[in-house]
Amino acid sequence: MFEYAPAPESRSIVDIRPSYGLFVDGDFVDPEDGVRFKTVNPATEEVLAEVVAAGPRDVDRAVAAARAAHETRWSTLPGRERAKYLYRLARIVQERSRELAVLESIDNGKPIRESRDVDLPLVAAHFFYYAGWADKLGYAGFGPDPRPLGVAGQVIPWNFPLLMLAWKLAPALACGNTVVLKPAETTPLTALAFAEICQQADLPPGVVNIVTGAGETGRTLVEHPGIDKVAFTGSTEVGRQIARSVAGTTKKVTLELGGKAANVVFDDAPLDQAIEGIVNGIFFNQGHVCCAGSRLLVQESIADDLLDQLKRRLATLRLGDPLDKNTDVGAINSSEQLQRIRLLSDIGEQEGAERWSAPCELPDRGFWFPPTVFTGVTQAHRIAREEVFGPVLSVLTFRTPAEAVEKANNTPYGLSAGVWTDKGSRILWMAQRLRAGVVWANTFNRFDPSSPFGGYKESGYGREGGRHGLEAYLDV
Ligand code: NAP
Ligand code: MG
Repeated sequence: MFEYAPAPESRSIVDIRPSYGLFVDGDFVDPEDGVRFKTVNPATEEVLAEVVAAGPRDVDRAVAAARAAHETRWSTLPGRERAKYLYRLARIVQERSRELAVLESIDNGKPIRESRDVDLPLVAAHFFYYAGWADKLGYAGFGPDPRPLGVAGQVIPWNFPLLMLAWKLAPALACGNTVVLKPAETTPLTALAFAEICQQADLPPGVVNIVTGAGETGRTLVEHPGIDKVAFTGSTEVGRQIARSVAGTTKKVTLELGGKAANVVFDDAPLDQAIEGIVNGIFFNQGHVCCAGSRLLVQESIADDLLDQLKRRLATLRLGDPLDKNTDVGAINSSEQLQRIRLLSDIGEQEGAERWSAPCELPDRGFWFPPTVFTGVTQAHRIAREEVFGPVLSVLTFRTPAEAVEKANNTPYGLSAGVWTDKGSRILWMAQRLRAGVVWANTFNRFDPSSPFGGYKESGYGREGGRHGLEAYLDV
């Protein structure tokens, strides 16, 4: 092992204003009844900017702007005209991708390698993909002339701030809806940068409105009588509240909630590749991934070898400055999330699982948690059942394929799963039996805008991405 010289990405490319307003009707405006709060860099705890927690009157105003834009302009534009705006947004995202990647890493704590190579390319790809659909909706299988729903209220989490914005906005706009979007409390800055991009693209005022804030702003938006559609990504607990609050209304809802994915490794799997897949499955984005492979199910006969090799690999992961291009593991997004990861990990130990953490030095300031593996985990342990949403892997073993299926499906969630084996027939056999929205074979955490994504059971309902993703924004 040799030491790497620091290779920090310069942050001079981003220009963070000391204070931001809300983005309503094409302009940044001061709040009417909102209050200001600060957003920090989770790697240093440095205050980055002040943003608004929008109040009910602010949300009202944004919804009214979205309604007016929908009726007077956006829904009457031919699809090919909407497509031009979406292509323009996609191209500006590409042009400004370095700046947006740096900003995302500063506000979220994720390594620049990931924001630069994963988040930003996927954001642009998503807008390009749905731009392509805007003038072809009549061929999507929803009738010859499917109509938009109207105004969409969208609430997103902090783990992939700009990517979740793209997942929400691109299909909504392509279908002719207008939007009020609330980014997460801890990661508002790239959404506000995107608001500037809307101005740069000359998007008609009111088509996209961004109201920053915390949970209360989200609740106000979701419960607002002026919206026709709710799209939410976040915790199952909040998803349940939302389902309850829209029950009995005419609002259409999609919920993309938590997960506790099984990553199943058979004894004939290519071990080196599987190790990389396990690492990518749970330590990508500090494990702040709803579809993370947080439960490793490994065939008993290879478990010891695999764990030795996995720990050797984890000892080489580099944790630290998210802006360093060599960093593999960045900061935990908030002190609340860090508390939650610590609590569940402590409970894992108390319940009898064996804890191992990669030997890495944690910086003094900021929120950090080392890559951690629990062995001797049983299906009843809380770390095997609950979403930790952090860099924590629970390892269980199995002997037969049937046992693997049973254990993999023994969860209230059903968002994703992974299968590692040399046999194509076994992949198909497993994929048919796993109750998960996505099943990856000999890979993990791969995303593409043309591929639908979504859950079974407590992981939510509705699909995002692909042709399927259009349905959630059309009156069908
Ligand atoms: P969360 O509370 O569900 O937050 C998701 C989004 O919903 C945020 O924008 C949040 O605002 C907003 N929100 C909170 N309460 C709301 C309400 N009553 N009505 C409408 N919107 C509301 O998730 P979290 O607190 O960030 O994380 C908690 C746990 O959720 C994590 O530990 C993890 O297990 C899970 N999670 C899952 C995903 C996923 O992609 N499936 C993503 C994030 C978290 P604020 O952020 O401003 O509070
Ligand atoms: Mg929250």
